[in-house]
Amino acid sequence: MTSPAGDRRDAKAIVILGGGTAGWIAACLIAHRWPNAHVTLAESPEIGIVGVGEGSTPQLRAFFETIGVDEAEWMPACDATYKLGIDFAGWSDRAGFERYFHPFPTALDSHTAGSFFYNTRARRTGRDVVAHPDRFLLPARLAADACAPQGDERFPFEVSYGYHFDAYKVGAFLAQHAVGKLGVTHLQRRVTRVDRRTDGGIAALLCDDGASITGDLFIDSSGFRSVLFEQTLGVRFVSYADSLFNDRAVVLPTPRDPSKPLPSQTRATALSAGWAWDIPLTSRTGNGYVYSSRHLTPQQAEAELRAHLGVGAAGTARHLNMRVGRVAESWSYNALAVGLAQGFLEPLEATALHLVIATVEAFLDAVDADGFTQAARVPFNARIAARYDGVRDYIVAHYRLNQRHADPHGYWAAARKVEPSDTLKRLMSAWFTGADLVAEIDRLDIARYYNAISWHCLFAGYGTFPDDARLVPPGPDIDRIDMDRIDDFLRRCALNFPPHQTCLPRPIT
Ligand SMILES: Cc1cc2nc3c(=O)[nH]c(=O)nc-3n(C[C@H](O)[C@H](O)[C@H](O)COP(=O)(O)OP(=O)(O)OC[C@H]3O[C@@H](n4cnc5c(N)ncnc54)[C@H](O)[C@@H]3O)c2cc1C
Repeated sequence: MTSPAGDRRDAKAIVILGGGTAGWIAACLIAHRWPNAHVTLAESPEIGIVGVGEGSTPQLRAFFETIGVDEAEWMPACDATYKLGIDFAGWSDRAGFERYFHPFPTALDSHTAGSFFYNTRARRTGRDVVAHPDRFLLPARLAADACAPQGDERFPFEVSYGYHFDAYKVGAFLAQHAVGKLGVTHLQRRVTRVDRRTDGGIAALLCDDGASITGDLFIDSSGFRSVLFEQTLGVRFVSYADSLFNDRAVVLPTPRDPSKPLPSQTRATALSAGWAWDIPLTSRTGNGYVYSSRHLTPQQAEAELRAHLGVGAAGTARHLNMRVGRVAESWSYNALAVGLAQGFLEPLEATALHLVIATVEAFLDAVDADGFTQAARVPFNARIAARYDGVRDYIVAHYRLNQRHADPHGYWAAARKVEPSDTLKRLMSAWFTGADLVAEIDRLDIARYYNAISWHCLFAGYGTFPDDARLVPPGPDIDRIDMDRIDDFLRRCALNFPPHQTCLPRPIT
């Protein structure tokens, strides 16, 4: 099927449905890349936005750089903090592996990653060597000490980072930027009907006040409602529910204690039927419990979250439904799906906005290269689907490999029985047979989703090694990694990084 919009020159009028973070990110990227297009964003304040989603990957930094917004402009306006990665607590009860840190990459990884890979492989084959990820990677140490990701100017190694932020404030900031700086038209209307063209594409959005918004290209960022993709175009939804059980969340922010150091990490703590996030903002701490409704009622989940936070009955909790999976095609006819309208992977690795940015940029690249053609659409759709599936595999691995045996609801045992995808099976087989996991990741060509360090952190962080009683001292066939040297190297690197709260940008006055 050819795309009805012809070529890129025809896409003069672009209509975005939805003013959540996804809609505004799309508006900024499109208006920035195609300054001659007329971009209109329609949203219904009465429906509102989901308003969660407070952690990012380094992709958000690249996004702000692309649209020319400095950290000093947006971070203070959105209560934002820096994020070095995620601390996973309680996912394993193996001694010494009760927690581990999943970092973003750094320019220093090449100094220690080889030793990390080497030792984890030696330990997989039964040698008693140090193999916990936190002993090899600088961000784990920086996060443990609540350091900022920006080193001293004389320390010339970059540490990647993401952010934590208030989702409502980021949406409002981006709206202001899109309208004020990029000329996007903002309409506050509820869309009640969608008109189709004779070829099946979308012709116009009809609003509750009788207005009709016509366009050449439509972006569906209408959230879980997926008004254009699922409700109108009938694009199939590919569910991930078989491998990812969590379908609900309860959210309960708490005040921040200013006397404590400001963390530079998200914490993901395993609970009885899911996990709780802890996201430090400058103004408060974002907390929530993502869980499976097959194993817990909302009342049980809220009670467990409250007990975990130690807040008693204080504060009002919000309960949300979640649906995990993705649309089969992200570009259909003359429409592109982004954000929750496109799909959702539970927020364990905070990848949703990353996927929004990656989708919009890949779409713009495809159209700039090949126009609104089949030649652009087919590989684009395959690439985005593969990216979603690639991230899904990494998230599923957290559950499939869990080593948590305190399990009152049978949730963690059920998670260990989930059928892995072929890709995950191959990775697990490489790991557990003592094969070269780096080579397997290369063969599978999946490092663009999660690289070898991330996969090693997950497997090794859970302590998925032979039992301690079966470990033997390394023999002459094993190179001895000098852990004192690595400890000293990381300690001295870390001396270059100041406390997190001293590095937050000040508002521009
Ligand atoms: C529990 C939870 C935790 C999450 N944590 C993270 C995280 O840490 N990191 C991360 O990156 N992501 C996270 N996410 C995902 C993140 O919240 C979303 O990807 C992000 O907020 C974007 O949402 P959205 O813009 O797609 O949808 P929404 O915010 O729901 O916006 C939908 C928009 O569509 C409009 N709309 C819908 N129907 C109509 C209509 N008929 N007419 C007019 N307007 C309409 C609404 O008014 C609204 O403006 C999390 C999600 C959940 C559920």
